[in-house]
Amino acid sequence: MFLKRQLNIQKRLHSGYADFNLDNSGMIAFDRRHSPKNIRYLMSCNFSAVAIDTTVFPANYSSAREHWLKKLSEQSGHSHHRPYPCIGVSGPDGEELVTDTVWIGAEDASRVLVLIGGTHGIEGFVGSAVQIDHLNLLACRHLTLPVDTAVLFIHALTPWGYAWQRRCDQDGVDLNRNIVDFSQPLPDNPGYDELRSVLFLDDGQRRKTALEAFERQHGRIALECALSGGQYSDPSGPFFGGNMPSHGRTVTEALMQHYSMKQRDLAVIDLHSGLGSFGYGEIICDHAPNSPATAVACQWYGESVTLPALGTSSSVPKTGLLDYAWHTIMNSKSCYITLEFGTFSTNQLFDILLHDHQLWAQQNNLQARLEHRTLMRHHFCPDDQAWKELVLFRARQVIAQALRGLSC
Ligand SMILES: [Zn+2]
Repeated sequence: MFLKRQLNIQKRLHSGYADFNLDNSGMIAFDRRHSPKNIRYLMSCNFSAVAIDTTVFPANYSSAREHWLKKLSEQSGHSHHRPYPCIGVSGPDGEELVTDTVWIGAEDASRVLVLIGGTHGIEGFVGSAVQIDHLNLLACRHLTLPVDTAVLFIHALTPWGYAWQRRCDQDGVDLNRNIVDFSQPLPDNPGYDELRSVLFLDDGQRRKTALEAFERQHGRIALECALSGGQYSDPSGPFFGGNMPSHGRTVTEALMQHYSMKQRDLAVIDLHSGLGSFGYGEIICDHAPNSPATAVACQWYGESVTLPALGTSSSVPKTGLLDYAWHTIMNSKSCYITLEFGTFSTNQLFDILLHDHQLWAQQNNLQARLEHRTLMRHHFCPDDQAWKELVLFRARQVIAQALRGLSC
């Protein structure tokens, strides 16, 4: 009987019309429309297998916001929208720039999934796509939240960078290097200081030669730490952590306080793109290797968790990560991961970013800056159907793992 039911279910899956969603027991419940008996079946993970629609990837920040707000209006249960305008700046077409947030589910839920998009502005394309996909799943009830669980969506945490298709904010600040104590001496990055003079060379070949020489002398990890580990001395350079809390940090701290996040069990997923293998969603954990939170991450997400501190990640250790703001309020049943969707090589990432910062360090070149957006967009969100499908599939898988992990 067991085997027969399993075969029937597989047949339905392969026929392409079976829908199922999660419930709190770790069981999969098939959509009643296709299953009059509402067959419930144990699976290893709660995962929505309804068709993947890549039109959730937006054309730009404005259309992403419009689509996101429209999907918000379709939610049937309790939802609470809190917008955080980015004051004093606008987008390339004069549009208002806002970090939108929504709480879906019971206000007093003791468990919360936090889904962050656009920590790095331009990576908001991926953030929007994943969030809109999940707003869709929730609205159509292909995904239902487990009991005592809510979800907080944070859309476009760095809206200026999203609208202008840059990684940083309007002050050149990388939010993901901004979580440091600005009342204390800021971290040093001697490798960055050593390389600074070559980073802005117009001659790409000379720059490449200098970086290769640094790598030969100090190793690849030292090179990547020097370039991308975070620096607090050069506002026009890449990976600049700033000298005061940025918009995204202020919003994050306001949300933590407003929703009393410290009192709840948290699964935080910060959506990024542009680093790692093409189409793969790497689960990066920046908790300390032997911490309870790392154990939680490994328990929820399995063998695919990587740790920069142990050298197992495509990311090197970094200063001032957004993670650290959340780490300080997390209990022993919570964890924070970066879900990083790979595209092209790390060398290409550095080339494109360095050129972006070169252009923005110059004056009177708006046209050149705007043209460079094409390359930025291509690196951080390639217009490739298979890549988009991989992103949405993997995001559903990881988010299902998080919801299941929170419930255990
Ligand atoms: Zn990123």
